[in-house]
Amino acid sequence: MTEFAAIKTELETRLANLLERAEVIEDDLRHPLDADWEEQAADLADDEALEGVDNVLRDEIHQIRLALLRIENGSYGTCAKCGDEIAPERLKARPIATRCIKCA
Ligand SMILES: [Zn+2]
Repeated sequence: MTEFAAIKTELETRLANLLERAEVIEDDLRHPLDADWEEQAADLADDEALEGVDNVLRDEIHQIRLALLRIENGSYGTCAKCGDEIAPERLKARPIATRCIKCA
C-alpha cells in the first residue's frame, strides 16, 4: 500500500483544494479514511454534502475520494474491468484512472 503514498498525498492535496473551491465542510478531512471501507463506499454513494456543487467539481471530488478509498482497500492500481495491473506511468498521469490503458 505504501507504494502509492506519493499518489495518495497528491490526491489528498487535490481533494482539499477542490473542497475549498466547493466550499464544502468535509468530514473525511477531519476523519481520514479510517472506518470500514464498505461503510465509506456507502457514504460516497450518497454525497449530500455536495448537493448544489458544480457537477464537474463534484464529479472530480467523487473520483478522487474513490481513488483514495481504493488505495485504502488495496484495489488501487488494478483495472476495474480486466483485473490487470494499471501501468504506473498511467496512474502518474491520471491518478484517478480505474481502468488499464487497454480498457480505458
Ligand atoms: Zn483492463
